[in-house]
Parts: sequence; structure tokens; C-alpha cells
Amino acid sequence: MIINMLEVGPLMVNCYIVGDKQTREAAVFDPAGNVDLISKVLSQEGLKVKYIINTHSHWDHVGGNHELQEATGAPILTHRDEAPALMTTSERASLFGSSSDNSEASQFIEEGDVIEVGSIRFEVLDLRGHSPAGLGFAFDGELELDGSRQRKKLVICGDALFAGSIGRTDFPGGDMGLLLKNIRSKIFILSDDTLVLPGHGPTSTVGREKKFNPFLRI
Ligand SMILES: [Zn+2]
Ligand SMILES: [Zn+2]
Repeated sequence: MIINMLEVGPLMVNCYIVGDKQTREAAVFDPAGNVDLISKVLSQEGLKVKYIINTHSHWDHVGGNHELQEATGAPILTHRDEAPALMTTSERASLFGSSSDNSEASQFIEEGDVIEVGSIRFEVLDLRGHSPAGLGFAFDGELELDGSRQRKKLVICGDALFAGSIGRTDFPGGDMGLLLKNIRSKIFILSDDTLVLPGHGPTSTVGREKKFNPFLRI
């Protein structure tokens, strides 16, 4: 498996490019901006984008959707309750003194769906609580870690869970109780060595967050 994390866009969002080594197909999660950089990595790795996937529609996560779609022809996937906000991204960005392109969802996805990219299977998780219907994506892959190849479980979790923190719940659609419940019941049931890939900031593991995250320590 090929995985790249790029910090892109006006608010430094983690964009994840996950590709299959054999088929060279890839999914790009949250192309928040700097599409030239994303395209450069895709061509360096020899990857073709099969899907553009959004964890949620906050304007800082989706600003590169349109440009990446123009460049690759790939469909944009998100939850139906997140989709309307994609069409007002530019308005919302301007409220923050920033600029961002509107885009349109091509296909709706929800919990229980499995998205296949080559041999990689992304299981869709509903992690709402930070936004109306934020999604997570759990998958297995082989990674080079500490000089050896290891089979790992990974979870892309958008702004639901961060290393040592959780997403804000004071935006429309926010619900702290629901967010904590979703993290506990859908992320914390994964093995302790599962890599947590958040929407901002450094990566973590499920075990570390269970033990040290001040919002979730039991
Ligand atoms: Zn967000
Ligand atoms: Zn964010």
C-alpha cells in the first residue's frame, strides 16, 4: 500500500493519498487545497485517482475538490447530509477571509458501505458529532515501519478525533455526547495498535488515545 499525508489548504488540513501498489489506483481524502502539490505526489507515485473522498464538508477540508476533479475526472464521495454544504464552500470561506471553490458530490456514502480501491477496502464509519454527518474510514494495509513491513489497521477520522483532543462541537450539527459515543463505539473497538489519522496535526494510535486523551479517558 502507498500512503502519503500532505498538509494542505489555508488551515493545514491533513490530506491522505492512499493507493494500491499493484493497480496504482488511489483515493484522495480531503483535498483541502494545494492541488498542484497533490497532483505532483500522484504523478511521482504513478497513481490514478479513483475517488475523491470527504470526511466532512467544513470549508477548510474541501477547497481542492473541484480542481482535483477537473484534473482527474474522479467522482466526489461524501455523506448525503454533508453534500449540500459543498455548494456553499466559497461563501463560508469568505466569512473567514479565505477563498475556496464550491464543488458537488457525485455519490453518497454512509456507514456500512465498503469502498474498494485496488485491494484496499475502506469501511465507512459514521462519526457525526463534530459536523452533521462526518465520516471515518477504517482499512488494512502493509506499511514500511521501523525498517520492516508490517500489516496494520488504520483509521482516517477527519475532525472527530485528534491526537490528545477531539473536534469542536460548537458548529452547526455539533453534538459532544454523540461524538464521544461514536469515537468509543467505532474507533476504540479497533485494536490498540491501529493508527489514527486525524484531519489536523500528528498521527496517533487507538491505544494512546484511550490512555491519554483527556476527553475520552475512562
Ligand atoms: Zn471540521
Ligand atoms: Zn478541520
